[in-house]
Amino acid sequence: MWGMPTYFIFALPALLLALYAQWRVSATYRKYLRVPNAGGMTGLQVAQYLLRSVGLAVGIEGVAGQLTDHYDPRHKVLRLSQGVAQSSSVGAVAVVAHELGHAMQDAEAYALLRLRAGMVPVVNFTSWLGPLIFFGGLLLQYEPLARIGVFFVAGAVVFALLTLPVELDASRRAMRLLEQGSILTDEMALDGARKMLSAAALTYVAALAQALSTMLYYISLLSGGRRRRF
Ligand SMILES: [Zn+2]
Repeated sequence: MWGMPTYFIFALPALLLALYAQWRVSATYRKYLRVPNAGGMTGLQVAQYLLRSVGLAVGIEGVAGQLTDHYDPRHKVLRLSQGVAQSSSVGAVAVVAHELGHAMQDAEAYALLRLRAGMVPVVNFTSWLGPLIFFGGLLLQYEPLARIGVFFVAGAVVFALLTLPVELDASRRAMRLLEQGSILTDEMALDGARKMLSAAALTYVAALAQALSTMLYYISLLSGGRRRRF
């Protein structure tokens, strides 16, 4: 009774949402990384300009990969991918402004950012160990072990719950910077940046839905097992 069909009932809506969010992000990014910004500033120049304008002493480094751009609160460094650093597009401006939003959160000692950053190593560990422990517990028919697995997986839900407001806040800060600044001057470019940031936000909603559906599925397996006297 608690086999694959149940898994799909729990996982399918979240999976579809994740696929849609991924598709929307890549379509929106593809589009706006090609739309030039009127000022012709590259991502790197935008980062330097914005950091100066908000008065933050944050370093800028390059990072390998595509759209791997991030702010590292531990080393106080803004890392930009080559595709963003060298692009003078509306999309590059949006990505840089969002990461700057994280740098501003850090400068203001934004508690959720700190909490989330502190959880990263723990969650990296528990998110692959959780399923192993859980299914190990089911296999061995030892409920306490399966419960620990659920507890670990619940950590991923908490992490996704913390991530969402941090990301939304960074994007809000980014839009405020861009609306007040002089980099994106026309409404169409601002609208493009807004679309990029909201597409990115949806991926974090999808990640939360996926973590939640996984946890619910595990709980349903656990209570199903209990009905069969485990
Ligand atoms: Zn972010």
